[in-house]
Amino acid sequence: MPSIFERLDDKKGKDVKVLSDFIAIFCRQHHRAEARDTFPIKDARLLNVLGDKELVLCRDCSRLLSHGIAKLLLCPYDPKPACRKCETHCYAPGYRERMREVMRFSGPYMIKHGRLDLMFHYLK
Ligand SMILES: [Zn+2]
Repeated sequence: MPSIFERLDDKKGKDVKVLSDFIAIFCRQHHRAEARDTFPIKDARLLNVLGDKELVLCRDCSRLLSHGIAKLLLCPYDPKPACRKCETHCYAPGYRERMREVMRFSGPYMIKHGRLDLMFHYLK
C-alpha cells in the first residue's frame, strides 16, 4: 500500500503545519506538561513539514493530530475546501468535537499573541 504521505504536496504541507501549530498551542495551554512527549514522525516528508522544531504533545493530542493529518491527506476534494465548509464530515466521532474545540481556542489565542500569519493562512 502506498504511503499517504505521497499526497503531502506544498499546499497540504502548509495545512498540516497549521494543524500541528493549533493542536500544539491547545495542548500547551490545557494539558499537563508531564503527560507530554515528542510527537513521533516516521516519514521524511512529514519531518520536512514539521521538523523545524520538536513537536511535544500529550497522547490524546498526538492521536488527534495523527487523525487530522490522515484525514487531510486522504481528503477526496481537490482543492480541499475549508473543513468547516465541507459537506463531508470525515472525522471520526469525538475527534471532530475535539478539533473544533482546538480551533475555537487556538485561533483567538494566535490573534492575541500576534500570530496573524498563521490565522490568515487558516482562514484562506
Ligand atoms: Zn494535549
